[in-house]
Amino acid sequence: MSAERHLSYYNFRDVFSLNGCPFCLIVEKSIIKYFDDLLYEGVNLSETAKEMSRSKGFCRIHSKVLLNFNDALGIAILYQRILQELDEDPKCMPKNIREIQNKYCPACMKEKELLERYSGIFIDFIDDFLRKFKNNGFPFCFEHFNFILDKLVTLKSSKIKDLKEIQGKNIKNLMHKLENLINSYNYHHSDRKLSEEEKKSWIDAVEIISGKNIEKKRFRK
Ligand SMILES: [Zn+2]
Ligand SMILES: [Zn+2]
Repeated sequence: MSAERHLSYYNFRDVFSLNGCPFCLIVEKSIIKYFDDLLYEGVNLSETAKEMSRSKGFCRIHSKVLLNFNDALGIAILYQRILQELDEDPKCMPKNIREIQNKYCPACMKEKELLERYSGIFIDFIDDFLRKFKNNGFPFCFEHFNFILDKLVTLKSSKIKDLKEIQGKNIKNLMHKLENLINSYNYHHSDRKLSEEEKKSWIDAVEIISGKNIEKKRFRK
């Protein structure tokens, strides 16, 4: 294999030791950095103004993430411009604003780009990552599992079976933890102590099915 292991490879590899879908985690980590950089030095760039004017702000999910940064000045400047545009030309606010935001949200676009990059790294070093995936024991979320599976199908990869097998095993592993959690509420079983992973398996189940919510605090002090 000719591909080289760059910093992104190591960053991605690191999240395989955490609890959660590694694609969700690496996207989360990178999106937090994206907002940090945007608020620190990107607010006054003409590129940012152009993007925000096209998208009319961030989508609903990323607006929530943005608000968590609590950067009053940066956020005020970003959104003042949008309101100013609207004030000058009311027609520039489209009726289907939610659609426009979902389509052009700069953070959504960033996420798409990140997913392409990291799925490329996953595929270039698939043996490394399948081993990590197996050892980690945590499934990919459904969206990202399908995303990577589609890529492997297009490439007619010989690793499809391995990927599906590990995903299946990891889902069973999660189901087992859920079962123990549910049983712990039954007084017949209440003497057994739950592990930390079992205690939070109900959150993992939601995030595996619907994708992880971005939490600022995970990768930031
Ligand atoms: Zn995911
Ligand atoms: Zn978005």
